[in-house]
Amino acid sequence: MSTYPFSAVVGMDDMRLALVLNAVSPAIGGLLVRGEKGTAKSTTVRALTAVLPEVAVVPGCRFSCDPAAPDPACPDGPHDASAPVAVRPARLVELPVGASEDRLVGSLDLERALTEGVKAYEPGLLAAAHRGVLYVDEVNLLHDHLVDLLLDAAALGTSYVEREGVSVRHAARFLLVGTMNPEEGELRPQLLDRFGLTVDASAPREPDVRAEVVRRRLAADDDPAAFAARWVDEEQALAERIARARGRLASVVLPDAALRQITTVCAAFDVDGLRADLVMARTAMAHTAWSGRSEVRAEDVRVAARLALPHRRRRNPFDAPGLDEEQLDQALQEAADDASEDGPDEPPPVGPGGGAPNDGGQDDTNQDEAESGAEASAPDGAAPRPAPAPEAPPAAAATPFRARLLTVPGLGTGAAGRRSRARTDSGRVTAARVPADRVTKLHLPATLVAAAPHQQVRGRTGRGLVMRRDDLRESVREGREGNLVLFCVDASGSMAARARMSAVKGAVLSLLLDAYQRRDKVGMVTFRGAEAQVSLPPTSSVEAAAARLQALPTGGRTPLAAGLLRSADVLRVERMRDPSRRPLLVVVTDGRATAAGGASGAPVEHAQRAAGLLAAAGVASVVVDCESGAVRLGLAVTLATALGGELLRLDEVGADSLASSVRARTATPSRKVA
Ligand SMILES: [Zn+2]
Repeated sequence: MSTYPFSAVVGMDDMRLALVLNAVSPAIGGLLVRGEKGTAKSTTVRALTAVLPEVAVVPGCRFSCDPAAPDPACPDGPHDASAPVAVRPARLVELPVGASEDRLVGSLDLERALTEGVKAYEPGLLAAAHRGVLYVDEVNLLHDHLVDLLLDAAALGTSYVEREGVSVRHAARFLLVGTMNPEEGELRPQLLDRFGLTVDASAPREPDVRAEVVRRRLAADDDPAAFAARWVDEEQALAERIARARGRLASVVLPDAALRQITTVCAAFDVDGLRADLVMARTAMAHTAWSGRSEVRAEDVRVAARLALPHRRRRNPFDAPGLDEEQLDQALQEAADDASEDGPDEPPPVGPGGGAPNDGGQDDTNQDEAESGAEASAPDGAAPRPAPAPEAPPAAAATPFRARLLTVPGLGTGAAGRRSRARTDSGRVTAARVPADRVTKLHLPATLVAAAPHQQVRGRTGRGLVMRRDDLRESVREGREGNLVLFCVDASGSMAARARMSAVKGAVLSLLLDAYQRRDKVGMVTFRGAEAQVSLPPTSSVEAAAARLQALPTGGRTPLAAGLLRSADVLRVERMRDPSRRPLLVVVTDGRATAAGGASGAPVEHAQRAAGLLAAAGVASVVVDCESGAVRLGLAVTLATALGGELLRLDEVGADSLASSVRARTATPSRKVA
């Protein structure tokens, strides 16, 4: 199958430029492309390899060693310095979201190591991607465990596998490209930071451009070979230009003035650490080389800022990336003014129109998109004046306390943590068993016991035991796993009594701190008024959760069903991402339901049905009953029953009920703990 030619991609200019700059300078660190479905993101990524320079390799080496500098630790090595050199096209390796660990890092055959005494290693995708492109479509849905392995490999440039003392290490440096649809969930901040550049991809708005996209697509589908042939010259020219830029890169100069522009812009956008400055410098230099010049200019810095900064601004971790181009021009202008010393004290009142001589008409559309994007996302520093406040400011959380341990029943298989019981890689050994698949955790005594009775029959004469594959036993270990604790918090008017909301927030905050110590992931869904919203997509950042909680406004009707259904949605996506991390749903409510959340019919019945769905999906849950006052309806009991979950009163959230009942007494004045 011939891929779509890179040169034939219409629109997507930022994305193509970002890919090309990475190809010129792999040190930039990869690209993340965000955008809705059907914008040819994947087509564009897959088209890249055809214009990448070819790769010289040691023939027969499965780890793509460079003949000029073979990896001294190469598992297929050592390589002879006088070996012949083979040249092959650059490779693009796709990492499927549901891949196994073995598939990614390779698999080590422990059985052959023991029974035949050979180190048998089957390379994985990281080995295949070395010196090429590793592409992850729907990277935001990638299993957490794979994300960790990927981050490790990317940070070290090495992949490392160890099983019971047998280990293999090989070089793994690759251009990481991810694509994602943000509507399906955001990316973990650590992974987001790993990508050198980000671009937003959207379908072109202009009918003429759309028509050209469709025309070319039809032609390509109709006769791929003929279509590709039409673009051969362009592809060739592009490949040569990339190769030339790569060659020129080493001699590109970054003058002090340009470096100061970079650091000024990074400071103005309040980015964390110095990584942004470095990536921007590398990107600006790559752009200089790509433009056929040898000295970085303001226009290179501007391009670099647009591509390198949107995801690095300090902000709420889950706000959509975006960059205010007017602010960017101002920062660039300031740096220029500083350099010339006699600049005006104040920036010009209107954005400096002639500041950035760029791609002409192209720039206008970018600006439009950036502006509409900024409107859609949360307002940041630019908020002009406080809006008239229809609601009182959010209640502050009461002082947090030590929370009692809430667990998911049964025995899980999730990542190590400190909450629910689980089969884990660490923990104490509780048994040995015949492995269902390949052995990774050998139980030595049980293996020896299994082999011992057969030694005579097998004709043992030498010193060592005669081992067979079916002698092998693996350890069964039990420890604790981390879970996903998803809070579903009622923020409606019925909960809004100030002292009580403060106690509720205090209780949730206590559970959050507990989740942090137990290495859980946490997320939060809140519901009030007409709808439920994901206030915090599942994350390992408890700070973010605490901040969202403190700022949580209250008031309005109670769409309990919507809250439960939204929680079910969040859990469904998380199950795709990390099937072994078991969820614990903590519903914080008084059990009232007064809004149907869009559906027709009785709100209480909707809530019951939604609870039934969660129960049927096997979600473990706890209802924290926040009802107070003289007249009790006991609705939370009904909800807990429908969920098949545990019921706790607000004053029972504390690890020792006495202390917590004192702290929570404002919320439940009439109740005393027995
Ligand atoms: Zn090698």
